[in-house]
Amino acid sequence: MNPEEFRRRGHEIVDYIAGYRAHIAELPVWSSLSPGELRAALPAEPPVEAESFEALMGDIERIIAPGLSHWQHPRFFGYFPSNAHLASVLGDMLSSGLGQLGLSWASSPALTELEELTTDWMRQMLGISDVWRGVIQDTASTSTLVALLCARERASGHSQSRGGLQAELHPLVIYASGQSHSSVEKAALLAGFGRENLRMVPLDANYAMRADSLAEMIAADLAAGRRPCAVVATVGSTATTAIDPLTAIAEVCRRHDIWLHVDTALAGSAMILPECRWMWAGVEDADSFVFNPHKWLGAVFDCSLFYVRDPQQLISVMSTNPSYLQTSADGQVTNYRDWGLPLGRRFRALKLWFLIRLEGVAGLQARLRRDIANAQWLAAQVDAVPGWIRLAPAPLQTVCVRHEPPGLDGEELDKHTLGWVNRINSSGLAFLTPSILDGRWMARVSIGALPTEREDVAALWALMQEGVEG
Ligand SMILES: *Cc1c(COP(=O)(O)O)cnc(C)c1O
Repeated sequence: MNPEEFRRRGHEIVDYIAGYRAHIAELPVWSSLSPGELRAALPAEPPVEAESFEALMGDIERIIAPGLSHWQHPRFFGYFPSNAHLASVLGDMLSSGLGQLGLSWASSPALTELEELTTDWMRQMLGISDVWRGVIQDTASTSTLVALLCARERASGHSQSRGGLQAELHPLVIYASGQSHSSVEKAALLAGFGRENLRMVPLDANYAMRADSLAEMIAADLAAGRRPCAVVATVGSTATTAIDPLTAIAEVCRRHDIWLHVDTALAGSAMILPECRWMWAGVEDADSFVFNPHKWLGAVFDCSLFYVRDPQQLISVMSTNPSYLQTSADGQVTNYRDWGLPLGRRFRALKLWFLIRLEGVAGLQARLRRDIANAQWLAAQVDAVPGWIRLAPAPLQTVCVRHEPPGLDGEELDKHTLGWVNRINSSGLAFLTPSILDGRWMARVSIGALPTEREDVAALWALMQEGVEG
């Protein structure tokens, strides 16, 4: 494909995307494809001769499109939003087209310096002090793994330069709450701590970590000769957007020199709103935190921001400096390869930079406020109608509900919940994800797709009330 052909086909692709977004509300929200259906419709072997662009786009329309679930749909209320703002899409297209690869500062000076700039813009938008330095990782899962690797090395006095964890006399222990994301457990296991050294701290009535219980568990581990290494606190948990009390947790961590990592993958977006910042009061005392602009804020996946107070903690653990990567600028510049796992990096800052510049901080704030107001509206409706129960506080954009008809409990209630949620989902008119809380199924209504307005939330609420009638 030469640049002239790219120009023509590129316009067609942009038209296709624009048409998709303009008419997305007419589509069923969630794909109803059966497993294996898409693969069966496509040739199993690659073409030997080049095919036409028309044939390719024909398959996109005929075969690929029906297999799409529409995360950008106004009636998508599942999981958490994964907003791909079109301003950010343009930045991502540019990144692909420019084909940059960051290996060192010199391999693409613009890539590194724009990443420094946008992560610093974001820092200012979050209202935190200028000691914090940010880096773009692919996902929160990776960011949390990196945090635990650094915590491990700090607590063990750089065991990696000796026998590693395998030679440590005192087991290192990680603490998180039972409501922390599955990626925390995964990171702890992958970082070599072992399941026996991962503590799930008890919760309060609002599903937040109890700092007093944390302190007790740490004391017990110290008394038993173990070494408390890191606490992962969550602001905006995945099930209910619960808020762990950072100030009290940080106090405990400071006392015992424990790394505090804060998972604020979803809620970080809300910190661009001054009225939400009470939720992470105490974050300044953490060692690291992660926030995903690829969720609610609207940067195209993948864009996870990982902030640390002291980048040297990252570099001392993850720096490799083979001769072919050394450059004369090394002493004066940031080499992001030393801040995470991969060597190479995409020019991901562009999609965040486009989003911030083309929407403005005020535009982003207005949209998030719209979503929070919509969640509060729904919470008020649920609270006002008998038979409906709200299961947790709704400080952000997720409302956790159950419909509890008199006399129904246990597995019967679970059947009822999954029944009405599945009726809504299979109607194609809206999409929600059920989830288990305290051993019982509930429905999570997660608001905040880009085109979701009050009328969409009202339509969902009407569907919910119809749905429970069977
Ligand atoms: C979504 C989420 C994650 C995982 O995010 P990835 O970027 O997909 O790894 C982790 N923690 C919380 C609280 C989340 O909401």
